[in-house]
Amino acid sequence: MKPLILIVEDEAAIVTLLSYNLEREGFQVLEARDGEEGLLLATERRPDLILLDWMLPLLSGIEVCRRLRRTPQTRSIPIIMLTARGEEGDRVRGLNAGADDYVTKPFSPSELLARVRAVMRRARPSADAETLRCGDIVMDIAAHKVKRGDRDVHLGPTEFRLLRHFLEHQGRVFSREQLLDSVWGADVYVEPRTVDVHIRRLRKALNEEAEGDPIRTVRSAGYALDAVAPQYA
Ligand code: CA
Repeated sequence: MKPLILIVEDEAAIVTLLSYNLEREGFQVLEARDGEEGLLLATERRPDLILLDWMLPLLSGIEVCRRLRRTPQTRSIPIIMLTARGEEGDRVRGLNAGADDYVTKPFSPSELLARVRAVMRRARPSADAETLRCGDIVMDIAAHKVKRGDRDVHLGPTEFRLLRHFLEHQGRVFSREQLLDSVWGADVYVEPRTVDVHIRRLRKALNEEAEGDPIRTVRSAGYALDAVAPQYA
């Protein structure tokens, strides 16, 4: 599955340049032309990374950055700020507002791609991590074990891979076709309905009476995994 990058930038020429280069390197690209649209798309689509311009209509990049960091759903999305000015003060303000890195305009596409890769590597230790967590669900990848709270959860191999995929992309909505591609493999022929069967098994194994259901069904779109707030906290 291609990583999704949101570009929030009002200058059409820069958006074109960025989209072209990112798509050519295997990224999927979403575009927003002002700060408000950027916030909205970030919350709705949960991209893997955001390229955020400093000078934007409606809401400044720095304000968008602050709001993304205040919102639980977008808090951990890596942000690279694009700044026109190379002033040290701006860089510091950007990093203080929660940006992971910044690139000063004009930049070369190869410089930007290098930054994107570096930030994504840093932001995704979960790809190599031994343990994945979401709320009270903990997956030990090496030991191939899953716990919910103190309880052992027994999963078949497909349910394990499905849960791992969700844990690695928490909050993001995946269609049945996307899940088939990522979890079963693009060249395996399985009917989309099969996904529902395995989701049902995964829910059955994960959820006991009092526990909330972390798997969200999105009508006509697919499924997502969200952290469940502790019930008796
Ligand atoms: Ca701008």
